[in-house]
Amino acid sequence: MSADYNQLLDATIQHLEGLKSRGVRHVAVTSETLRSLAQPVRPAMAAGLKPQAPVAVPRAFTPTTLAPAAKPVPVAAAAPAIVSTPAPAIVRTSVTTAEKAAAFAALRERALACVKCPNLAASRKNVVFGVGNIDSPLMFVGEAPGADEDAQGEPFVGAAGQLLTKIITATGLSRADVYIANILKCRPDTPGQTSGNRKPTPAEMATCIPYLHEQIDLIRPKVIVALGATAVEGLLGKTIGITKLRGNWQTYRDTPLMPTYHPAYLLRNQAMSEKRRVWEDMLAVMEKLGMPISEKQRNFFTKA
Ligand code: URA
Repeated sequence: MSADYNQLLDATIQHLEGLKSRGVRHVAVTSETLRSLAQPVRPAMAAGLKPQAPVAVPRAFTPTTLAPAAKPVPVAAAAPAIVSTPAPAIVRTSVTTAEKAAAFAALRERALACVKCPNLAASRKNVVFGVGNIDSPLMFVGEAPGADEDAQGEPFVGAAGQLLTKIITATGLSRADVYIANILKCRPDTPGQTSGNRKPTPAEMATCIPYLHEQIDLIRPKVIVALGATAVEGLLGKTIGITKLRGNWQTYRDTPLMPTYHPAYLLRNQAMSEKRRVWEDMLAVMEKLGMPISEKQRNFFTKA
């Protein structure tokens, strides 16, 4: 067999073993994929030539049923994600609540022990994995922990976090109703500085993002809110300015994603117009989730 073929095979086995270790017990496959898997290896592939059609990994899943016709995705796309490429393919299956909780706990343990970025592992006080309801239909994703989050091991507990909590509360939900996580699980180190934060590097994002992909795979929120440009970049690989993107629905795999301003930006820019924009984004999220919206909520900023 060619090196290419073996590489594809290794990537597939690694991907499936990863799923199995996370508690996934069933893999949805299309009849088309099954047929092609049953075929003998084509001589062209064995000879190392480019395959005519990609070997497929199925994508969609529903909680209790196998997926409808799934769109085939090349195995290469199932390899660990890097920030500038789309997220890896997901294979969705039915898992029980207990299996999901166990898989989530195992994922957390792996993240807490992570030393893939030696500088961050050395400087962190805590790995900030995420917090909230793992069955929530709504997930917020930020950039990376700051000093307060690093100290407490919980995302969004500093000044920006308090504003995020207010925004969540204004929708009628509480922090415990939603799930909150970051692109990076460790605080970006700032050697030689006593204060301040820095943006995660592309390498740090690429290294850490698989944890977030797995969190999202397990939670399966109905809507993701990406807080700020780094969250958008990490999840969608888009580097278009947040000013252009915010308020416009995007899609992370099959999940609607609303980009909005990071609460830290709202703290820096106190203009009512910017607060109103974030609130409008939240109203769109509430509508998408079918949440009730009162007149008061709808008019929060109209009289300002
Ligand atoms: N900013 C973020 O992006 N995440 C946090 O957890 C805190 C501040």
